[in-house]
Amino acid sequence: MTINATLINLYHVCKRECWLHANGINMEHTSDMVYDGKLLHETSYAERNEKHSEMAVEAKYEDVDLRGKIDFYDARQKVIHETKRGNKVESAHEWQVKFYLWLLRLNGIDGANAKIEYPLLRQTHWVQLDAEDISKLEQTAKSVALLRDEPQCPPVIKAKICQSCSYYDLCYIGEE
Ligand code: SF4
Repeated sequence: MTINATLINLYHVCKRECWLHANGINMEHTSDMVYDGKLLHETSYAERNEKHSEMAVEAKYEDVDLRGKIDFYDARQKVIHETKRGNKVESAHEWQVKFYLWLLRLNGIDGANAKIEYPLLRQTHWVQLDAEDISKLEQTAKSVALLRDEPQCPPVIKAKICQSCSYYDLCYIGEE
């Protein structure tokens, strides 16, 4: 499986969730949060569809295949636009867009920035990519590829975020 932004994101949220997703065990269709997020995305910036374009980006780092689908990319301003429901896992959001910025760089597009928008909170965060970020992304991409190939699923993390995770039933079955 190609390493994408979802796996990079999940790696920072929960390695178990990352492993499950990377190995094709998907339960996202049961998650209200995912549905709400998609709805928010579609309704909040409907008019932007005409101004910006979705862009698929692929690259290779060492022997790891990378792929990203940027929802809104303003090629003229070199700005990636990402919309999020909240900012509770803001670090993961930042790494998601940093991954996109890295893919752009690997394709020869330098100097791009990313803007994460939280319409429900009326907040925006600008994200840039520096040399340290690139080094971390290189390491994370390799770590995700290694994690994906692990025969054993990582343990349950027993964190607050589990309550809103689509894998909750799978992880906590029999624990009540
Ligand atoms: S329920 Fe918790 S431990 Fe299980 S995959 Fe989700 S975040 Fe990870």
